[in-house]
Amino acid sequence: MEDGLGMIVRSLRQDPHALETVHISVVAFAGIARTIAPLMDLVSFYPPKLPIGSGTSLGAGLNALMAEIDRTVVRTTADRKGDWKPIVYLFTDGKPTDVADAAIERWQRTYARKAHLIAVGLGRYADLAVLRRLTETVLLFEDSREDDFAKFVKWVTASVTSQSRSVGDSESGAVPIAVLDESILSLAKTPAAQSIIGDRDCVVIVGRCQRARKPYLMKFDRVSQQVETRDFALQANRYDLTGCHPIDESYFEWSAPARSNLTVNTSDLFGIPGCPYCGNPSAFAQCGCGNLMCVSGPGEAVCPWCEKTVNFYASTQEDEGFDVRRGRG
Ligand SMILES: [Zn+2]
Ligand SMILES: [Zn+2]
Repeated sequence: MEDGLGMIVRSLRQDPHALETVHISVVAFAGIARTIAPLMDLVSFYPPKLPIGSGTSLGAGLNALMAEIDRTVVRTTADRKGDWKPIVYLFTDGKPTDVADAAIERWQRTYARKAHLIAVGLGRYADLAVLRRLTETVLLFEDSREDDFAKFVKWVTASVTSQSRSVGDSESGAVPIAVLDESILSLAKTPAAQSIIGDRDCVVIVGRCQRARKPYLMKFDRVSQQVETRDFALQANRYDLTGCHPIDESYFEWSAPARSNLTVNTSDLFGIPGCPYCGNPSAFAQCGCGNLMCVSGPGEAVCPWCEKTVNFYASTQEDEGFDVRRGRG
């Protein structure tokens, strides 16, 4: 997404019309929401680093967006020509982890007619139903092939360009979006076509390297398994390791304020990552303080979270697993 934003800005700058008319700002939301790039003309705009954090606070994101619109969009008055309607691209890959109803209602009541909103769900876990409550234009991007993202970025660029023209030409009416490349982006029309996915699609767990003392994020994705016996069939869930990524301290700032008390049992998780910083073979050792750290094996280690010396034992076959705190998504 960060690379994509840079590409969008670079190619928009090559369009003389866009250069004259387009202003960009970026509001980010994870556990919290904040404007990370104030409204700026295309020439001066510098793509910000996008934060990650535990949570998908759509309600907080919408409130921050509406505050940004109130603060920056110049309204037309009797003796002043104001700004054109802002065009909002809302990107999300998850489902809301806060209660967004009030913010959605407020958007519909006051802002829906003052701005164009294009919602883009990224990947199969995006909650399209909630996006549909915000706007009729809901698109789904499923990153399936290598060059798809580049095509997707081209589409966003083309659609900003065409909108900057059409908004300039007429005061109202529907805003055309660029022609969809249906192979990469689909207009998400019918809720029925989209399977209902709960918030248990993936598990994210944070840990900290005992040597580098920096945090990392382990991600496990749900794998559904049909378990059938002679008498019954049931849907079993397990989570397989899909990656372990270094993150920076801003993760905690961008996570939902209340410490997540969601837990997952390790017996449901498959795969143990190594530490992305120091190469320790296990990034999944739990200290008595409840936090996870990396270890080289059984023995003593100092917990980078609580500074206590911990003695780790090798787990045995009989272990029933233990509960660890997980992020909100
Ligand atoms: Zn480490
Ligand atoms: Zn500890």
